Amino acid sequence: MKIFTIKKHTMCVLLVGVILICSIVGVCYAVKATTSPKALYTIVIDAGHGGHDGGAVGRTTEVTESYLNLQFALKLKSICEEYGFNVVLTRKDMNGLYSAFATNKKRSEMEKRMEIIEDANPDLVVSIHMNSFSNTSARGAQVFYAETHPEYEEFAQKVQDALNAKIDNAKKTAKSSDFYVINTTPIPSILVECGFLSNPEEEALLVSEEYQKDFCYVLFYGILSYFSAR
Ligand SMILES: [Zn+2]
Repeated sequence: MKIFTIKKHTMCVLLVGVILICSIVGVCYAVKATTSPKALYTIVIDAGHGGHDGGAVGRTTEVTESYLNLQFALKLKSICEEYGFNVVLTRKDMNGLYSAFATNKKRSEMEKRMEIIEDANPDLVVSIHMNSFSNTSARGAQVFYAETHPEYEEFAQKVQDALNAKIDNAKKTAKSSDFYVINTTPIPSILVECGFLSNPEEEALLVSEEYQKDFCYVLFYGILSYFSAR
């Protein structure tokens, strides 16, 4: 079964593209560094759910969304750091971000995410989630932007385009949504639903370390295309 369309030569082409854009970004920031102490872009990578809130669950493997969100976030962090970006994670492990004493844990968790984002004062926020739907045939990675910030549609679509080019069955169009994190922060933000845990074939991909790594490289390429167009 062909589970992933990135062949070695296309991956090489992709990486050459990444290196070229990185060079542009590096030159831009070498120039910026002479006038600003902030020499690099900062990205907050937000792994959704955690603690008692596992999110969606894989039908076959029973893997939790919170676990996969963290795996994708850690891989994307490594790639971003490899190319000189400063990365702040909202969640670094499987623990929830809420206070143990909070009566409303969801609210406490969301406030903590916002506090981390505000402290980091990043250039970009990327929230990572896995999708699920009652119809098991639903599939495809999709990028969302805040309905309160339609100005970020272009950024979301750039990342969606990167996914469309390299990831099987990715949805074609980025969509607006009312997800709390991306709607609450004024910072350019996207939420990426990496695939459907309710679809057995997509679940098999999402739990694969290799696929996670490839997916995060494509995601990173989309993020770079956003920075290079600014
Ligand atoms: Zn989720």
